[in-house]
Amino acid sequence: ATQVAPVEKDCSSITPPYPALLRNLEHVRKVLQRPLTLAEKILYSHLIDPEKNLSGAGKIRGEVYLQLRPERVAMQDASAQMALLQFMSAGLAQSAVPASIHCDHLIQAVEGAESDLKRSIVTNQEVFDFLESAARKYGIEFWRPGSGIIHQIVLENYAAPGMLMLGTDSHTPNAGGLGMLAIGVGGADAVDAMTGTPWELKAPQVVGVRLTGQLNGWATPKDLILHLAGKLTVRGGTGRVLEYFGPGVFSQSCTGLATIANMGAEVGATTSTFPYTPNMRAYLNATGRSPVARAADEAASRGFLNADENAEYDEVIDINLSELEPTINGPFTPDLATPLSKFGEFIESQGWKDEVSAALIGSCTNSSYEDMTSVADLAQQAKRAGLTTKVPFLCTPGSEQIRATMERDNVTSTLQDVGAVVLANACGPCIGQWKREEKKDEENAILTSFNRNFKSRNDGNRLTMNFLASPTVVTAMAFSGKLSFNPMSDSLTLPSGEPFKFSPPSGQDLPSAGFALGETSYYPSPSPKPHPEVDIVVKKDSQRLELLEPFPSPFGEASGNNRDLELPPLKVLLRVRGKCTTDHISAAGPWLKYKGHLTNISENLLITAVNDEGGDVNVAFDRDTNTSGTIPEIAKRFKSRKQPWALVVDDNYGEGSAREHAALQPRFYGCAMILARSFARIHETNLKKQGVLPLWFVDKSDYSRISSGDVLETIGLTDTLQGISDAPIKVKVTKSNGETFEIQTKHTMSTDQLQWLRAGSALNHIRLSLN
Ligand code: SF4
Repeated sequence: ATQVAPVEKDCSSITPPYPALLRNLEHVRKVLQRPLTLAEKILYSHLIDPEKNLSGAGKIRGEVYLQLRPERVAMQDASAQMALLQFMSAGLAQSAVPASIHCDHLIQAVEGAESDLKRSIVTNQEVFDFLESAARKYGIEFWRPGSGIIHQIVLENYAAPGMLMLGTDSHTPNAGGLGMLAIGVGGADAVDAMTGTPWELKAPQVVGVRLTGQLNGWATPKDLILHLAGKLTVRGGTGRVLEYFGPGVFSQSCTGLATIANMGAEVGATTSTFPYTPNMRAYLNATGRSPVARAADEAASRGFLNADENAEYDEVIDINLSELEPTINGPFTPDLATPLSKFGEFIESQGWKDEVSAALIGSCTNSSYEDMTSVADLAQQAKRAGLTTKVPFLCTPGSEQIRATMERDNVTSTLQDVGAVVLANACGPCIGQWKREEKKDEENAILTSFNRNFKSRNDGNRLTMNFLASPTVVTAMAFSGKLSFNPMSDSLTLPSGEPFKFSPPSGQDLPSAGFALGETSYYPSPSPKPHPEVDIVVKKDSQRLELLEPFPSPFGEASGNNRDLELPPLKVLLRVRGKCTTDHISAAGPWLKYKGHLTNISENLLITAVNDEGGDVNVAFDRDTNTSGTIPEIAKRFKSRKQPWALVVDDNYGEGSAREHAALQPRFYGCAMILARSFARIHETNLKKQGVLPLWFVDKSDYSRISSGDVLETIGLTDTLQGISDAPIKVKVTKSNGETFEIQTKHTMSTDQLQWLRAGSALNHIRLSLN
């Protein structure tokens, strides 16, 4: 555990190709002839053909589909299974770009790091073997269970200023802490990059967030993004990049910036980024990447790594860090922000018990050395006063490097002395991998330093209220056991009856003795070569893995000719009410084990969604037989009758994660179209990729006019698909009583995306173009 990360490692495969990017940027400048934001510089310099893509386009942001070439792909173990199953069916010998797989989501927290890791490796052996053999075959870096959480590892090893990267996880933007664009996508998008197919993204708008002032006292970078989430709401970042600038950026550590970028996902932002700073350089140097830092210095001196003077943003938000106070967000949605000083009143006004039932720190959002040393400072203060935590206090280090450095520097022992249990370097409770014995089916409140807090996410209990806060506020609350405790102003009572007040925590950005490497057997060999001779075994009777069958074109026989490209008549399965995140569409927790088995995981389709006709959870109606059942039961019935179907859904449908199962599962059961008041970006793309047509109501009140059992027919899709017209697609609705009417819809399909629909999926389209 005392081996220290090398001062300078071989960075040839992780240094962005700055000279080529700068050349591309020159072409972009010639075409656009205006100052550029940093996000634009990074994105447009990765265009395959800037002249072709941007010339004559007029307005770019929010309008033009960009054809991009990302430099790297990262996949976590749950989403990598489907990404690789799709990649395998493309028939290539190796990944076209460097890629990595990270074993983090499948490790369940029960009692502590060592035994949890051992047990989870046994339980998931088949999946880990599959991932490792695929990694060997295709030349992908494989980070074994125990190595850490994907985003922390990416930040420590791969992220670099100015890079464009895709990750099959919604918190991929975490890497933006190093001044790059890292974008969360579904596996099918990762397959684009891995097959060398242009990756398409509608040019996002760019929101400038100007930071002035200085954080002080208990306020941390986490509080900045919790505050911003409250301002922007879960939809405020849709189709937009958050680009921070101003003097306040330069006073943050690189890992603090990563926390801010990480939770940009909670406002639906495409990603977040920052100009290159001296703290980023220091972090690159501390993690053995001084060659990347030197190359970035050179690129920065040529104007690549910050916005041009007078660059125009679509909106500018001003935040004075000096005025920011710690904030607590939740429950059940990450944008319900309450300043710490008002939180006690808020709890009282809701009539909730003033009790914390567990406190959890770490995760990909907040497990930097700075976070952990700040928390250890509080633990040390409490220990000296003779206090221990009042409630279970769990800590998940983000990586083996962090864990080993914490252990060497006595951070771990300090936390354990006050009652902390250190879990494996993995997602654990953050993704429902938490075997929690207490508070089952009971209303209770937990505080976490995580990023997401939808119902049931952590322990499977819909009544557990998860409040998001900085690691230091979470830790202070663990000592008080009360939600109303404000460590900035309140005291705790010592056994002696004396009052005890925490001093504001102070942490250390980077370890003075360097990062310890820890258990090096968890790490991959750098830049592995492909091994075509490796067999990837998927057992026929496996309950965890299943080879994918291509989805047929929804147009059936008609797909081969140009006569009729309307969808077949679709029966409405369900009208979904209100918030429907990818967690509602495809739950995680115990279902994570079926991520590589589409038939098995589809049994969880929409099981926590609310049916707007009656208000029940997981109930659907089969109007043909006048019966009802669970949503997966009725969807399966439709599939067995070969009855294609549609969903009617509310606003921001598919909010949350990049989970492509939320698109694959409805498609697997025969869903061909989803009519929404609005869609979340990643999920809408995932639907398109899997050959499901996402349509937006022009008049949102039409949502209530359509019921289960109604039949929907598209009008005008043929002309759209054939490029004859870009008029809105209409939908004819036939009610069960025979009444009919038409509604107007709009869509966001690009020319290429229409071809995916026609082929049955993006993968079918790629396969056709590769052969
Ligand atoms: Fe893992 Fe949670 Fe981070 Fe997702 S948000 S990568 S589940 S730690």
